[in-house]
Amino acid sequence: MDVLGLGADPVADDALVCSAKGCRDEAHWGLLWNNPKLHTPERRKVWLACSDHRDHLERFLGARGFWKQTVGVDELERA
Ligand SMILES: [Zn+2]
Repeated sequence: MDVLGLGADPVADDALVCSAKGCRDEAHWGLLWNNPKLHTPERRKVWLACSDHRDHLERFLGARGFWKQTVGVDELERA
């Protein structure tokens, strides 16, 4: 159930690990993004980020026009 209406894909219910390459830190943020060439407009893919990599990943997605929103991991739907 998507109580927040974020439209984001559910994340795993076990350990949430940062999506940055080579990083195994616990994630505290969920970056919601959409690639309009691949996804319907309401779809939200989720990247997880530790506090160190949040800015880096937001910039990466933002530079491509994919970034939509960043939320705390507690707000993400668990699978
Ligand atoms: Zn990280």
